[in-house]
Amino acid sequence: MRKAKALLFELGQPGRCAVDLPQCDVPEETSENLIPAKFLRKVPAALPEVSQQDLMRHYTGLSQRNFGVDSGFYPLGSCTMKYNPKINEDVSRYSGFALAHPLQDESTVQGALELLYNVEQYLAEIAGMDAVSMQPVAGAHGELTGLKLIRAYHRHRGENRTKVIVPDSAHGTNPASAAVCGLDIVEIKSNSDGSVDIEALKNAVGQDTAALMLTNPSTLGMFETSIKEIAEIVHDAGGLLYYDGANANAIMGIIRPGDMGFDVVHFNLHKTFSTPHGGGGPGSGPIGVKKDLIPFLPVPVVVKQGDRLHLDEERPLSIGKVHAFYGNFGIIVRAYAYIRALGPDGLKQSSQDAVLNANYVLSQLKDDYYAPFERFCMHECILTSKNQKSAGVRTLDIAKRLLDYGYHPPTIYFPLIVEEALMIEPTETESKETLDSFIGVMRKIAEEAKEDASLITNAPQTTVVGRLDEATAARKPVVKWKA
Ligand SMILES: *Cc1c(COP(=O)(O)O)cnc(C)c1O
Repeated sequence: MRKAKALLFELGQPGRCAVDLPQCDVPEETSENLIPAKFLRKVPAALPEVSQQDLMRHYTGLSQRNFGVDSGFYPLGSCTMKYNPKINEDVSRYSGFALAHPLQDESTVQGALELLYNVEQYLAEIAGMDAVSMQPVAGAHGELTGLKLIRAYHRHRGENRTKVIVPDSAHGTNPASAAVCGLDIVEIKSNSDGSVDIEALKNAVGQDTAALMLTNPSTLGMFETSIKEIAEIVHDAGGLLYYDGANANAIMGIIRPGDMGFDVVHFNLHKTFSTPHGGGGPGSGPIGVKKDLIPFLPVPVVVKQGDRLHLDEERPLSIGKVHAFYGNFGIIVRAYAYIRALGPDGLKQSSQDAVLNANYVLSQLKDDYYAPFERFCMHECILTSKNQKSAGVRTLDIAKRLLDYGYHPPTIYFPLIVEEALMIEPTETESKETLDSFIGVMRKIAEEAKEDASLITNAPQTTVVGRLDEATAARKPVVKWKA
């Protein structure tokens, strides 16, 4: 096991310094003369004093301990950890974008507004929707915004609909968003093949149905083939359909949520549209809506007036603002660059390749690991550790063993309705060679389970720290340095 690194504070020696400051060109003053005594420290801050080289090595070392798509294969199901092309980073740093102030006069930021307007048009086209708002800053935030729109729509029609139907396979954010929106959740069971149980849906809909939230392809990586019938059942009851677009990487340019009957969708730009994620933000979760919901969109809305772009705040039915200014603009710029670079054919090809890659992984591993569904998958596949159970090996152990081989593990124990799930999403950006190496390692782990399961149940062995008690790490985090 590699030794844990010293803290910067432990490296420090009095008198060392990482910077050379230029000579002072103003009269020198002591802090006592400049700052009232009550604000002055009694004891100097215990800042580390290190040389520039020590500083450089320290942070470079730390950066190499992080795992990201730039360092290796990251098949985290439902998260679409695709490569982030570096031209997106370049473009987002153009000074006209990066240095613009959100309170600048409209006339001085016409280019930025045009970019917002254009991304909205592209996403509306990809989703089959009539309008898009770029304001929400995460998928979950898009869900909350979308549900608020649905609520406003029903209220405006004088209907008090309070129930949101959510399949038991849904991502946890779906019921959470409904609860935060003050709506009640009705959970419906899935069929044995992971699809929506039509009878259960028929029994669940009624005069109080506000919406059905659905992910398609579902969180099991399966396309919901009865979607037309599902949409009809919900619409006939007066409810609306919400599309969780986290899995849109399977469908771009092939099928559109709007054509499937959905009324509101969110996209995760940080998943499908290649903007970086994994460190907790910033993200972007724009929502698209059908015509009837446009009056309720968050303000401001970017509108075209002749050849000028304008931020329209005069929307009497709007739900208001859901984020400061216009959302995470820098992320939107990256998505713009991505969409323009790929074009319609490129986006379609991405989805086709993502589906092909997932099916390749599934086909190569389904003899070694249990595959709970007999169908082709979409952009991600589910396997389980059922075959390894008799050897005492669980899914968590397999995930930890993958760390020893230098891979980020797939998503595990999600979706909740599959016991011991391993959810693998390779994305379209990985080469066949990378997939083959990963497949080779997964097969090796299946062999180890037969021959010496302790290699897996005691993993990881080669990482900076061994197996962590994750519950304690989350409940009693130690985040403060003590002298
Ligand atoms: C990621 C994800 C979400 C939530 O998106 P965030 O951007 O993380 O808030 C919702 N549903 C599904 C299926 C997801 O995979």
